[in-house]
Amino acid sequence: MSTLRDTLDRGVPSFSFEFFPPKTDAGARTLRQTIRQIEALAPDFVSVTYGAGGSSRDRTVEVTKWIAAETTLRPVAHLTAVGHSVAQLRHIIGQYADAGVRDVLALRGDPPGDPNAPWVPHPEGFTHAHELVRLVKASGEFSVGVAAFPERHPRSPDWDSDVRHFVAKCRAGADYAITQMFFHVEDYLRLRDRVAAAGCDTPLIPEIMPATDVRQISRFAELSGAAFPEELAHRLDAARDDPAEGHRIGVAYATAMAGRLLAEGAPGLHYITLNRSTATLEIHRNLLNSRSTQHVLAAHR
Ligand code: FAD
Repeated sequence: MSTLRDTLDRGVPSFSFEFFPPKTDAGARTLRQTIRQIEALAPDFVSVTYGAGGSSRDRTVEVTKWIAAETTLRPVAHLTAVGHSVAQLRHIIGQYADAGVRDVLALRGDPPGDPNAPWVPHPEGFTHAHELVRLVKASGEFSVGVAAFPERHPRSPDWDSDVRHFVAKCRAGADYAITQMFFHVEDYLRLRDRVAAAGCDTPLIPEIMPATDVRQISRFAELSGAAFPEELAHRLDAARDDPAEGHRIGVAYATAMAGRLLAEGAPGLHYITLNRSTATLEIHRNLLNSRSTQHVLAAHR
């Protein structure tokens, strides 16, 4: 079976979608519908985020196994080290191996409750993501991804240490990286240059988050620390009471950003769906219909 790295090494931009584990039965039904719609596009992979704790973690495992068993999609399971002993992590990795899931996004995670609280490792666990990368790689034929931060990880004191530790994750065996959400293409390009200057050629897949409602902006900042473009914030604010207009503005911005990333040679696009397909499918269709994207894709045929 080919790995995700094999797919990325083909040089054709990959397209992929991210889901989160639903909290309710209604949420689970919506997610299944969304997954079926996305399946029709034959993306290169889909990923399922790992819950911050408790039952949402079990649901990540359930949803990922369901995708592997019931759909034609390649699921990538996010897995975080926070709150787990190495023995627990081994058990989860074993469950994935048994279910035929061969792709894991290895992350450290944040302290539950307050992501900015001091980091306290599990007494029998890991402190940094590179240790989890090594564990997954040593556990079987897994393709492993890691996180990258176009605006640098919020806990990194400077760019040098951020890039050094990122490269260490790649040297530990990461096959590719997916970035944190960001809203300025230049941030992605600068990170890519820094990583390349450090002698690392691991593919960096940019994450695309459609922002369609001004009320989402503070949540984005809380989750990612990503700087939000002022002009886009003003336009979304003006459309605060007009959801259709907000949607149009957000989809147009994300489509332009995604098109530019592909033109700049990004190895793929990873869309955050928030478990709904509307905005991401529109962006994806706009892209496939745009001349510049057709040009980029034709260059790889
Ligand atoms: P690390 O690579 O360990 O880095 C964390 C910090 O430690 C960085 O500042 C790094 O520079 C520093 N560092 C690394 N190694 C060393 C070292 N040896 N010595 C000193 N400092 C070091 N969270 C979830 O809970 N669930 C998810 O599903 C999830 N999915 C994500 C998907 C993507 C694409 C991204 C970008 C993030 C995701 N996150 C998720 C959030 C992620 O867990 C947090 O951002 C976390 O703070 C960092 O994880 P990491 O794997 O990059 O950690």
